[in-house]
Amino acid sequence: MNRDFSYRYYEHLLKEACRSRYPALMSEAESVLRNSPKSIFFRHDVDFDLGKALQMAEIENSQGVRATYFVMSNAPVYSLQDQGNLERIGKIHDLGHEIGLHFDSKTARDSGVQVSLLSNEIDDACRDLEAATDIPVHSFSFHRPWSGLGKELLIEGRINAHAQELSEEYCSDSRGMFRWGHPLDKFREAPDGRPIQFLTHPIWWADESKEPEDALEEYFLEKTKNFSPMEKLRFDKEMRSHVPNVIRRGFIEVLYEKHSSLQH
Ligand SMILES: [Zn+2]
Repeated sequence: MNRDFSYRYYEHLLKEACRSRYPALMSEAESVLRNSPKSIFFRHDVDFDLGKALQMAEIENSQGVRATYFVMSNAPVYSLQDQGNLERIGKIHDLGHEIGLHFDSKTARDSGVQVSLLSNEIDDACRDLEAATDIPVHSFSFHRPWSGLGKELLIEGRINAHAQELSEEYCSDSRGMFRWGHPLDKFREAPDGRPIQFLTHPIWWADESKEPEDALEEYFLEKTKNFSPMEKLRFDKEMRSHVPNVIRRGFIEVLYEKHSSLQH
């Protein structure tokens, strides 16, 4: 299967998708499901890098595409206290894109609870994101969703990106691969009556296509260049537990285990 994660190729995917589909925002899901059977939701879960998210937002804007960016209110590897990050979010929004919440709850994941039982927690996190960005939040997605999560379209009045109706024609770049089929096949084959949801994670995309392990390595080196050895270890540990299925190229398990045991 073609695995090209360059910005050039992403632009090509946008063009191909828009031959037969209209881009829609997640906040518009209810009316899309009622009235716009030939729609596509471009969704981004921002796990790592708001700078890369902004680059994708600019590419989409140049193609007349509107997308939804799900941002974490409590990301272990980027902060909403950082003025630069707030500016990046503001710019993405100014380009006509939607800002939603990328929700993470380790406790909920470990206990495998239903989405409806998390409504208060999701609502609080949406309000945190709204307070930090001054942008209303109308939709959310889950970081590392678990089975049995529940598929309701609305939780506390906000759109759940994992809703059944939005997931029937789905493709994504999870783990830096097109694991659920190639998007071009999905664009061609999905029946008109159902919206397509195409999920990408900005961390996997770059000027030149990279293997996911190399993309994480580059991110790690960039973010930690002024860190002390102990800060690097801590950051590495955060990255490792944040996205456990892909390991950065330079990660050396034995050394890491040795150093981390020294901290206790
Ligand atoms: Zn995520």
